[in-house]
Amino acid sequence: MTDLSLQNLPAGTVVQPGDDEWDAARAFHSGIGEPTVIVRAGTVDDVRSALRYAAAERLEVMVRGGGHSAWGAVPGGLTLDLAALDDVRVDGTLVHVGGGATWGAVAHELSEHGLGISSGDTASVGVGGLTLGGGIGWMVRAWGLAADQLVGAQLVTARGDVIEVIETAHPDLLWALRGGGGNFGVVTRFDFRAHPLTSVVFATLGAGDDARRLLRVLRDTMAQAPRELTVTYMHVPPMDPNAPAGATVTACWIGDDEDAARAALAPILAVDGVTETEFGVRSYPDILMDMPAADPDQPMPGFVGGNTLLRDLTDDAIERLVTFRESNAASVLFLRSLGGAFGDVPQDATPFPGRGATWFAMAGAFDVPGLVDDDTRPAIQASWDAIEALGDGLYGNFTASTDAGLVSRMYPPETMARLAAIKRQYDPRNLFCRNHNVAPA
Ligand SMILES: Cc1cc2nc3c(=O)[nH]c(=O)nc-3n(C[C@H](O)[C@H](O)[C@H](O)COP(=O)(O)OP(=O)(O)OC[C@H]3O[C@@H](n4cnc5c(N)ncnc54)[C@H](O)[C@@H]3O)c2cc1C
Repeated sequence: MTDLSLQNLPAGTVVQPGDDEWDAARAFHSGIGEPTVIVRAGTVDDVRSALRYAAAERLEVMVRGGGHSAWGAVPGGLTLDLAALDDVRVDGTLVHVGGGATWGAVAHELSEHGLGISSGDTASVGVGGLTLGGGIGWMVRAWGLAADQLVGAQLVTARGDVIEVIETAHPDLLWALRGGGGNFGVVTRFDFRAHPLTSVVFATLGAGDDARRLLRVLRDTMAQAPRELTVTYMHVPPMDPNAPAGATVTACWIGDDEDAARAALAPILAVDGVTETEFGVRSYPDILMDMPAADPDQPMPGFVGGNTLLRDLTDDAIERLVTFRESNAASVLFLRSLGGAFGDVPQDATPFPGRGATWFAMAGAFDVPGLVDDDTRPAIQASWDAIEALGDGLYGNFTASTDAGLVSRMYPPETMARLAAIKRQYDPRNLFCRNHNVAPA
């Protein structure tokens, strides 16, 4: 392959400003981007051509899987859109997934085969970005992160080489793909090990008014709970007249044993003010949320806050998190139980930080004029920073920040050093820099 123009690509593959499809092609989940050119790759060869072109033209590359990250907002560069690489193929308990597929499509295909996989909670989110960053979903305590199910991949390097990444041939690269982000190449196919799954028990509970008490009960309950159970606590402000504000606990139990799920959740159900909105058996694809993309004219607001991985949800941490939420009218508080299979994976087995964490916590105030301004923003950020200081790293996928400094807060120094050495081997010129970027060592 010596062609360094994009002209030999099939019609419709290259989209540029002025083309009829330009506006549709540059829209991503939370806004509308301003790249220099978009290549909608339909084959591995299209990917190789696009990378050669980007390298020759010195264009930064934004690899787009499901388009849910904030990287779509960074102007300029070549957006390599993988949406057409969306094949999902089941082979026994292995599932081969195209680099541009979404989790909804994967869950549907797996359920046809009585299988499931640890993913994220939203159907439209891309397998690519979520897996490469880690992937926290409803099965995180039962089966670990999405990245923990990854057993192989087909990857196109910055040089345009196509590599079959397997444990025996490229162990360092496979390690890096399990949480090191999109730094190392374009994954055109992910290979995952799936698990038998027919259905889940899903429950949504009103959480009452005493957030501190409820969170202490949640913590104590989850410390003893079987790993089939994963819970989320969420407290949202009234943002949309059609969406209920307030605090909820959502729970997912792997399997259809409603009695076992109810027994595991009994201490939470017994808390004063907790109400049952939903409790029943559903299919796994059915519990994945549909979250519509933002109206391009009204991009999603930013957040002032952050996320962290907490080894212990101490009374002090609960107090700080609830106070953060109560002090900022337009803020969100989100907690997800960890532990179980997530914690079985040794820290150095993947780049993902905080394997000792029992809870993931995220809080942020919407950065909307009238609610947050230049006077209040620093204090809100400082109160979050004090919470983050209690944690053990942060999860890059759950931040809308594209700040280059963030990556050093994500990984411990020894992980960063190992990622940087692998980066130097596979992408020494840092073509893949539109991500939580690991600079080549
Ligand atoms: C509504 C919503 C719900 C979410 N829910 C969850 C959740 O439940 N659990 C969770 O863990 N996270 C969740 N996230 C965060 C999500 O994991 C990240 O936003 C992730 O980056 C999305 O991946 P994507 O492929 O859709 O994004 P994209 O913007 O397409 O990609 C993000 C980055 O990933 C890399 N990338 C993507 N695909 C490839 C590929 N095939 N090869 C190489 N690099 C690639 C690129 O570096 C790119 O910059 C959610 C986000 C949103 C907006």
